[in-house]
Amino acid sequence: MSGQQNFVKSEETEENEKKSADEFIEFIEICINEGWSPTKCPEGCPVEPDGVCPHGFKSIVLELGFIADGRINREAIENYGSYYSRQTT
Ligand SMILES: [Zn+2]
Repeated sequence: MSGQQNFVKSEETEENEKKSADEFIEFIEICINEGWSPTKCPEGCPVEPDGVCPHGFKSIVLELGFIADGRINREAIENYGSYYSRQTT
């Protein structure tokens, strides 16, 4: 881990930023229900909810605490969701 930041500039990012917090929560819940999680990997690797992609990016579900004690931590997702949508303006 070098701590270096990867800036993803693409249509994908723009599209993500348009999502409201609610859509984000819904998206995360679907991911968890389907048994996977997105990562911050520039390659867009999906991983298992407790997994790490080949490039070393952790599941955001794990990294951000969206699952606690094997259950969806809605509060954490909502907190992140509002943070997430604030960033778009
Ligand atoms: Zn990756």
